[in-house]
Amino acid sequence: MIKKILLGLGGFVLVLLAVVIGRTLALPGVELVEGEPASLEADQAAANLADAVRFKTISYQDGSDPALIEASHQAMTGFRDWLSARFPSFTGATTREIVSDYSLLYTWQGSDPSLKPVLLMSHMDVVPIAPGTEDKWDEAPFSGTIADGFVWGRGAIDTKGSLVAMVMAADLLAAENFQPRRTIMFAFGHDEEIGGGDGNKVIAAMLAERGVELEWVADEGGILGEGLLPGIPGTAALIGIAEKGSVSLDIVAASRGGHSSMPSPVDETAIGRLTKAIDEIGKAPFESRVDGASARMIAALAPAAPFMQRMVYANMWLFEPVVRRVMEGSPSSAAQLHTTIAPTIIEGGNKENVLPPSAHAVINFRTHPRDTGEGIVAHVKKAVADDPDITVVTMDGMRPASPVSNVDGAGFKLLSEAISASFPGVLSVPNLTVGGTDSRFYTGLSDNVFRFIPIRMGRDDLPRFHGTNERVSVANMGQAVAFYKTLMEMMNKQDQAAVNAAEAAAP
Ligand SMILES: [Zn+2]
Repeated sequence: MIKKILLGLGGFVLVLLAVVIGRTLALPGVELVEGEPASLEADQAAANLADAVRFKTISYQDGSDPALIEASHQAMTGFRDWLSARFPSFTGATTREIVSDYSLLYTWQGSDPSLKPVLLMSHMDVVPIAPGTEDKWDEAPFSGTIADGFVWGRGAIDTKGSLVAMVMAADLLAAENFQPRRTIMFAFGHDEEIGGGDGNKVIAAMLAERGVELEWVADEGGILGEGLLPGIPGTAALIGIAEKGSVSLDIVAASRGGHSSMPSPVDETAIGRLTKAIDEIGKAPFESRVDGASARMIAALAPAAPFMQRMVYANMWLFEPVVRRVMEGSPSSAAQLHTTIAPTIIEGGNKENVLPPSAHAVINFRTHPRDTGEGIVAHVKKAVADDPDITVVTMDGMRPASPVSNVDGAGFKLLSEAISASFPGVLSVPNLTVGGTDSRFYTGLSDNVFRFIPIRMGRDDLPRFHGTNERVSVANMGQAVAFYKTLMEMMNKQDQAAVNAAEAAAP
């Protein structure tokens, strides 16, 4: 009997092994050899970015110092005039609309009005320099200094580098009398860093009202990652195909208060209740799974991964829990798999000998596309339901996760082909963008909203983003110009090929 079971078990293991290896072998490996990337006018592109950085287009929240807001508005206007003067061919080829006083929408009319327009995006505004870090910069953050092969300054990565590159590419094309078949739009928001409510939200509503549908959209949110992915030592183009949402909840604990000399038991004080509630919320994590955008990422990585890793990736039906555990080991990859829980503010009490009658904490949740804001609120309320003196208040600014874009359509194909053509040997990898971008306003106008700019970032560069010593290399700027030019040229070829195919098919 036991022998039979063992034999049966052995047979099962053999079949399993055969399936695992069979699936791995059915997935041919590719060896990525990075070639020399295309480049155009790198020095001029760097000089243009340096100029762009000098405009202090910092976006400030409503209610900030009016003098700062005024200075920022002046910088936005200055930047806009600089764009017109510096890129005359682009300016001549496009029409410009100014939205909410500062955001810009340029339209380069295509020759075939039956084709849906595409939209290239970058924002003009930048985040401020964190107080106390000004002198930690190797070069002053708004000086637009070019040194050691880099353009230094706030906004170089986020996102004046891509803005300058896409405009410069269009300017070069327009100077060559390039005529897009399909209309190309450029949207440059002025308030992305404070939510985009006056900029791209309004532009998107305006386009929707005009009945515009977009073929595809390309915004920030993904980059050229250098050594950021396991098993891929070189460069990979991370293309965000969805982005997470956000909801902040205010957790309020009430208690009787009173003098600290005669306290209630600690777990009945407001602070005791609040810490217990935070603990309960932390112990109730959200569902975590490799699916949707992260499953697409694994599938894209698989062919380029070393054999053992490829075996795992080719058999996610079996190894998903293993991959999940590994990804959960680091906060950045874990954030791809589930809604995250981040306590960001805690307040309560103002005197050392008084028990506060209430204490509260703000917890920020970043919503995975499989969850909803309402679902998160219900989940948190359930986690703290044992304590009737805890209230959960939903704060303003809740936004849902975006839909997951279509990676099997012409838009993704074009983007990844333009990446391969400009950056030989670079793998295009769809993934989930964990931050928010202005592109989310356009998900109602297109199923093909992608988040990628051709800016290189290695592990050491990640802290520069919104941080100190933000910079982009001169070489990278030349590559970015070449990329956008290639993208627009390939788009015309793709559209011409579609016309040819349709004509060939016609009787
Ligand atoms: Zn940004």
